[in-house]
Amino acid sequence: MKAGDPLKGRVLIVGLGLIGGSLALCIKHEHPQAKIIGYDINKKQARLAIMLGVVDEIVDDLEMGAVDADLILIATPVKKIEKMIELLSQLPLKKRVIISDAGSTKMEIVKKAVSLTEKGYTFIGGHPMAGSHKSGVQAAKSILFENAFYLLTPEADTDKEAVERLKVWLKGTKAKFLQVLPQEHDYLTGVISHFPHVIAASLVHQAERTSQHQSLVTRLAAGGFRDITRIASSSPDMWRDISLHNKDVLLQLLTEWQEEMARVTNMLANENEDDIFQYFSQAKRFRDEMPVKEKGAIPAFYDLFVDVPDYPGVISEITGYLAKEKINLTNIRIRETREEVFGILVISFQTEEDRERAEKCIRHYTNYDTSTGI
Ligand code: NAD
Repeated sequence: MKAGDPLKGRVLIVGLGLIGGSLALCIKHEHPQAKIIGYDINKKQARLAIMLGVVDEIVDDLEMGAVDADLILIATPVKKIEKMIELLSQLPLKKRVIISDAGSTKMEIVKKAVSLTEKGYTFIGGHPMAGSHKSGVQAAKSILFENAFYLLTPEADTDKEAVERLKVWLKGTKAKFLQVLPQEHDYLTGVISHFPHVIAASLVHQAERTSQHQSLVTRLAAGGFRDITRIASSSPDMWRDISLHNKDVLLQLLTEWQEEMARVTNMLANENEDDIFQYFSQAKRFRDEMPVKEKGAIPAFYDLFVDVPDYPGVISEITGYLAKEKINLTNIRIRETREEVFGILVISFQTEEDRERAEKCIRHYTNYDTSTGI
């Protein structure tokens, strides 16, 4: 076999949700001769994976799929990943099997994986940094990880050949692999992903409290507020586990945040115009300098804002142009609240490429202004 040839062999995906399902699709696409076996505790989800053609076969228990697997990818919520590692370490696995995971935290998982490595098996922690606030195999897609960072956390004594082999197995993700230490991983993802989830949830709680005595808040929140808190719609199961796994980092960040909020409280109470201006201006500068095209750790949303006149039939007019050019959209809605955000019609796409094509298409057929809101 030449380097770069598709691999053959058996791949077990444990946890057939959004991430497990998407990884299965990517592997099958790149290595069509590989047999993809799926295991999920939720039998309905497993059957759906078969029906959607995401896996070739499903097994009823972990052992059946694990003992002759060449690659085992665990994509359950993070606390369950620990449990799966423990169960796998008690099974007679193939000697050259690679075991990896897709969990959003790494320190606890890598610690647990000692039970595998002390038996001579290879474990390589992994985290494909793309996703969606949707869950379940029905949301799985092979383009999910395209151009996203895929963090791997091999130990100093992990077999280098196995790391390369894992990257070949995962080539179909079209992701950019980076190697980091587990503690580095947890701190970075804590700052840019886990902590923002806590804040998004807290903003929604605040709006909910307000809605108890002011019903208008729900309607007004339908615009920008709904967008900036979109991540609060992610799976509570998953985020409970991630928060508990990354507890130390989150506690540290919460303390720093409280100190910062105390500073902001002071600035406002003292009406300190310069400090308030600096606070916003420094945040704007740093945010404006962030790469636009890079996929980061929080799922990106490819929204296009179109400044259309609000008349009956405008949605079908726009969707008609997009259909003509065969551009798929995932969502389309009219905004009622337009403050601070450009455009009244918001169209969401699956990829940056689709959004760019749509923008060109709308500009070609109409004279409506468009913006990506970036
Ligand atoms: P999901 O809810 O879509 O899927 C998880 C699947 O695991 C479900 O089908 C569930 O039935 C199954 N499962 C739970 N316990 C199990 C067990 N004991 N044995 C077998 N299967 C079990 O979740 P997801 O979004 O695919 O996330 C999976 C993992 O990927 C998590 O560890 C998460 O931290 C990580 N991750 C998620 C994202 C994201 O944006 N969703 C991004 C990167 C990484």
